[in-house]
Amino acid sequence: MREADPTHSPGLKDAGVGMTSARTRERLRRRLVQAGIRHVELLDLMARLPRHRFVDEALASHAYEDASLPIGHGQTISQPYTVARMTEALLEACQPQCVLEIGSGSGYQTAVLASLVRRVYSIERVAALLDLARGRLAALRLRNVRLRHGDGAFGWPEYAPFDAILVTAAPPGIPRTLVQQLRVDGCMVLPIGLGADQVLARVIRTPVGYETEILEPVNFVPLLNGLS
Ligand code: SAH
Repeated sequence: MREADPTHSPGLKDAGVGMTSARTRERLRRRLVQAGIRHVELLDLMARLPRHRFVDEALASHAYEDASLPIGHGQTISQPYTVARMTEALLEACQPQCVLEIGSGSGYQTAVLASLVRRVYSIERVAALLDLARGRLAALRLRNVRLRHGDGAFGWPEYAPFDAILVTAAPPGIPRTLVQQLRVDGCMVLPIGLGADQVLARVIRTPVGYETEILEPVNFVPLLNGLS
């Protein structure tokens, strides 16, 4: 089971201040409901989880707007709606206990997953981002997460197969290496392609291959090769 409830940790004394107040967070929840998110536990969590701690202090007042924000190194923290949509798409397809995330970034999506499933593995290619994410997750006492500095295109074979894989940067097509690290009936949610043609897809692994479902248009940074 989960090892900590990040929303009740003692480090959250700043949670009631100004633009990060309970009312502001409730507004985010309403916005997510309006956008079609239905998973109640996920909505409750996103209304409580301190997103402002995953961005630079200068941007904290925008943390509960439904927008992506810069996190440095040319990367962004995903828009809350997108985090919710991807998480919901995973949860409803395969009730995962053990999830691999590619692209830890700020660590926010990682924190959402870690609050809802038993174990999360997350790979990030930019060391500086990974260090920040590690500190944030530790401050929230999310101990069911294992982070790795690496190229996520190779997955994490030592811990495979995973119930689910969530990719937060867009490859040009479905990475076969990742599909192979899913258990049968496991699912992967990922953006595919570039620019205006980019779509969010859900892949379900079958005994003989996989099935793909296109969910909606999205706008992610590309999956890059190698380390930084
Ligand atoms: N889920 C993150 C999204 C960050 S943006 C958040 O909400 O904050 C996508 C992230 O994927 C970036 O941090 C980028 O550095 C990382 N990334 C891109 N290509 C990668 C790769 N091949 N392996 C691991 N991480 C990668």
